[in-house]
Amino acid sequence: MTAAATAPAPAARVRLPVLPGDAAVIDRAEPAPHQLIDGFARRVTYLRVSLTDRCNYRCTYCMPDDGSHEVTPHEDVASASELGAIIAAFAATGVTRVRLTGGEPTLRRDLPDIVARVVAIPGITDVALSTNGERLLELAGPLRRAGLHRLNISIDTLDPVRFRAITRRGNLARVLAGTELCSSLGFRAIKLNAVALRGFNHDELPALTSWAWERGITPRFIEQMPMAGGRLFVPGEFLPAAEVRAILAAGLGAPGEQLQILRADDDPGSHRGGGPARYYLLPSRNDDTRVGIISPVTESFCDDCNRVRIDSAGRMHACLAFDDAVDLRSAVQAGTNAEDLGRAIAHALGDKRRGHEFTTLGCGAPKKAMIATGG
Ligand code: SF4
Repeated sequence: MTAAATAPAPAARVRLPVLPGDAAVIDRAEPAPHQLIDGFARRVTYLRVSLTDRCNYRCTYCMPDDGSHEVTPHEDVASASELGAIIAAFAATGVTRVRLTGGEPTLRRDLPDIVARVVAIPGITDVALSTNGERLLELAGPLRRAGLHRLNISIDTLDPVRFRAITRRGNLARVLAGTELCSSLGFRAIKLNAVALRGFNHDELPALTSWAWERGITPRFIEQMPMAGGRLFVPGEFLPAAEVRAILAAGLGAPGEQLQILRADDDPGSHRGGGPARYYLLPSRNDDTRVGIISPVTESFCDDCNRVRIDSAGRMHACLAFDDAVDLRSAVQAGTNAEDLGRAIAHALGDKRRGHEFTTLGCGAPKKAMIATGG
C-alpha cells in the first residue's frame, strides 16, 4: 500500500464567508436621515473602512495559516470612487471620523488617492489609518501630503524574533524605522497598537510603553477578540485589561501605584480618536504621557458604540461581532443618490444589536475573520 493511500485527507478548504450581503433597503417613506441613531439611542459618528482583506503579514491571531482565508476577488473590491460615494453618504448623516483599515491598507496602490478623496468630503474632519507599518518608509510622506491626519501602527513586540514569529513575515527594523519617520511628519497623532497576549508579550508591555513615550507616541493595548469562529483564539493567551493595568503599574509606576483612568472630558488630548480606548496615566510621572487600553471582552464598551464598518466589497457591518452585512456597493453601482444611500444606511442600522457576546473562552465569535473588516 503506497504512502499516499494512507495519508490523512487534507483539511477541507473552509471558505470564510465573504458574505454577499443583504441588498440595501431604501424606504422613501422615511425622511433622509441627518443623524444615524441606532435602536439603543447610540449615535454613529465614526466609520471604519476596510480597503482590502489582503495582507503582507500572517499574524497568528488574525490570519489563518491554512490558506483558508479566501480574499475578496479584485472585481468585487470597491473602487476609490465607490468608497467615496459611500463615505459621502455617511458624512451627510453626521459621520465626521473615518479610519482606513484592512487587511493591510497600504497594499492598495490607490491609497494616497483614497485618502485625498476622503479628506475632501464635506463633514469629514478626521481621517486616520491603521497599518502594520511595513510600508511606511515609502508611503508616510505621500499619505501625509494627501492629508492623512492620524496613524495607528501595530507593533506587538520590540523583539525581532518574536516579531517574526507572530507576523510570520514581518521586518521589525523596517516598521520601527517607518514609525520613527512618521514622528517627524506632523501627523495629529501617532499611536502604537499592540494585542496583549499572555506567554507572548505580557512581559514586554512596560518596554513597549516606554519606547512609544520616548517618541511622543501613545501606546494602546488591546484584548484579543474571538473572530473567525473562534478558531484563532487561544483562551490561555487571553490577557484581560485588569492584568494589563497591573503589569504596566508594576513595571512603570512608583511602588504600589495604580494606573489612573482619565475621563474623556478631563483629557481632550490629540491622542483621543473616535474609538473605544480608555486612557490612563501614572500620577508619579507628572507629565502628559498616556496609555490606552481597549478591552472589548472583559470591560465592554458596546453601550457607547459610535461606529459601523464598511468592508472592502462595500458592505456595511453594523457590528464587528456579527456576520450580517448590507451591500451598499451595488446600490452605488445602480446610481443610488446620497440621500437614498443615507436611507439604506439608517435602515441597516436598525438591525444593530445591543452588543457582542464575546467571552474570555472565545465564544460568541462571528464567522468572519478580523482581516475581513479591519478590527
Ligand atoms: S462589538 Fe459591536 S456594539 Fe460592541 S463596540 Fe464593537 S461594534 Fe459596537
